[in-house]
Amino acid sequence: MSRTVRVDAVVVGAGMAGLACAADLCAAGLEVMLLEASRQVGGRMASDRRDGYVLDHGFQVFNTAYPQVRRRVDLAALRLRPFDPGYVLADGDRRLALADPTRRPGDLLGAVAGLLGDGQRPRDLAALAALSGRDMLVPARLLKRGPDMTTRQALRGAGLDDDFVDAVLAPFLHGVFLEPRLDTSARFFHLVWRSMLRGSLCLPERGIGAVPRQLADGLPLGTLRLGAGVERLTDDGVALTGGLAVHARAVVVATGPTAARALLPALPPVPTHAVTTVHHAAPEVPWPRKALLVDGDGPLLHTSVVSNVQPAYAPRGVALVSTSLPGVADEEQLTAAEARLADLYRTSTRAWERIAVHRVAEALPASPAPWPLSRGTRLAPGRYVCGDHRATASVQGALASGARAAREVLRDLSTAQTSPRKARTPAPADTAAG
Ligand SMILES: Cc1cc2nc3c(=O)[nH]c(=O)nc-3n(C[C@H](O)[C@H](O)[C@H](O)COP(=O)(O)OP(=O)(O)OC[C@H]3O[C@@H](n4cnc5c(N)ncnc54)[C@H](O)[C@@H]3O)c2cc1C
Repeated sequence: MSRTVRVDAVVVGAGMAGLACAADLCAAGLEVMLLEASRQVGGRMASDRRDGYVLDHGFQVFNTAYPQVRRRVDLAALRLRPFDPGYVLADGDRRLALADPTRRPGDLLGAVAGLLGDGQRPRDLAALAALSGRDMLVPARLLKRGPDMTTRQALRGAGLDDDFVDAVLAPFLHGVFLEPRLDTSARFFHLVWRSMLRGSLCLPERGIGAVPRQLADGLPLGTLRLGAGVERLTDDGVALTGGLAVHARAVVVATGPTAARALLPALPPVPTHAVTTVHHAAPEVPWPRKALLVDGDGPLLHTSVVSNVQPAYAPRGVALVSTSLPGVADEEQLTAAEARLADLYRTSTRAWERIAVHRVAEALPASPAPWPLSRGTRLAPGRYVCGDHRATASVQGALASGARAAREVLRDLSTAQTSPRKARTPAPADTAAG
């Protein structure tokens, strides 16, 4: 790269939001530079390959029903393998299979029968089935309408008892939202629940990082620069660590929330939730199922024998077990986690090898109610911000926010090139962010 480069638009950060934004700007004919500080694309969605294992940087599942995913991703090329629908809840000594209530209501009934007193069952089950049916079938725009509330309030309002929520749903949702109280926006919950009911949770053959790599491969040659950290925004573009300058009419900051604030100090702080993922190699498959195992009454969130789901994740004959814990776990917590894994899988974990630990302090931006599902991206003339922290804490939210930034850039640049009398504002496009 020469000392100074001139392009139409610079996008800072090649996570899902930056990739979507850059793709849409390129598709509109702009000359774009996508600058990524690290050596690989994907941000929080990255994977390593080591000794025959695929190690995602956090235990993450890929949801095929997200509208932005369906629009942008060649799902067949990812060679996806699905988790079993629903999840298995570990409650004391019991392992209760909680099937998707819209697909296998009988299984759910059986599991819940083991959990709760008889008096609760029919009402809670009917309420959960009604909520699920509505979330799955009504148009998404209806789920976004009306006043927001917390997920807990919404579940209560739908007729679910707190006991049922705490025993059955909260342990699973804690692993999704990374907060145990269910303070997360109900609008976001309904959209996530809908996506889970309508799609499949999957793992790509080459790891979760294959998704952003596919998007990066679709960019025109020369658009993406890796190892190109942006140090600051300048009057007419950005300055990179190392002294290079890029001039651009539009700069889109598509980093995580803290890095975005470092570049754009006017942004408000965004509270975030942390998660730790630990990957273990096990000499024998400890559990035959392709399911998410949810820790109903212990220190873990979710765990799964991910090589049962996607055999490419481990060498033949051994298993890869991936487990998430809340927060940034220290050594003591990891040791406790290993003891708990022995309980959950009902096997000794002494021969298991801990092969990677990923601590992600800014795993998800908090989305407490009331939460706007999509925020404008234009901060000042020529300056834009996008990312999951501007929409919803999900792959869908990141992609939708990147798409929105691209629309706003294109609108502004076309307006700037058109005489005021002829300027047109494009019709608002879909801002689905959940
Ligand atoms: C463990 C874990 C599990 C998750 N599970 C799920 C799940 O199951 N389903 C789901 O929908 N979502 C999940 N998520 C959330 C999802 O991964 C994120 O919402 C999404 O990937 C965020 O994308 P982003 O582009 O907004 O930000 P990021 O992925 O954070 O990308 C920002 C990029 O900007 C780069 N950058 C930062 N500063 C600079 C700079 N100064 N110059 C240049 N580049 C810079 C970073 O290196 C990074 O590549 C999970 C997240 C984690 C951590």
